[in-house]
Amino acid sequence: MHEVSIALGLLEFAAEYCEREGYKGIEAITVKIGKASGVMPEAFHFAFEAVKIGTIAEKACLTINEVPVSGFCSNCNKSFTVEETYVLSCPMCGKSSFRVETGRELNICEMEVF
Ligand SMILES: [Zn+2]
Repeated sequence: MHEVSIALGLLEFAAEYCEREGYKGIEAITVKIGKASGVMPEAFHFAFEAVKIGTIAEKACLTINEVPVSGFCSNCNKSFTVEETYVLSCPMCGKSSFRVETGRELNICEMEVF
C-alpha cells in the first residue's frame, strides 16, 4: 500500500513547515488527490489516520478533494473532463492530440495550524 509512504511524506513536509514557522500543531489538512495520481482516497485516508499518531498532526482532521482528470485537445481546441482515471484519446474527436491538465496532483492545498 504505497498510500502509507505518501501519507508519511506529506506529514513530514507538514511537520517541517510547522517547525520552521513556529506552530505547535495541525488542526486540519486538506489535500488534493488527482484521479490519475494512482492514490485511492479511501486508502490514503486510512493511511493518514494511522501515521498521524504521535506526530504534530495527531488531532488533525483530513479532507480530501478529489480532482478529476481533465485535458485540452489541440485538435478540437477544447478542454474536456473524463470520469476515468486515465485518458487515451480525446473524448470528442478520438485523436491523441491532447495534453492532460489536471488529475495527477497530490498535494496539500490547505492547512490549519495553531
Ligand atoms: Zn479532440
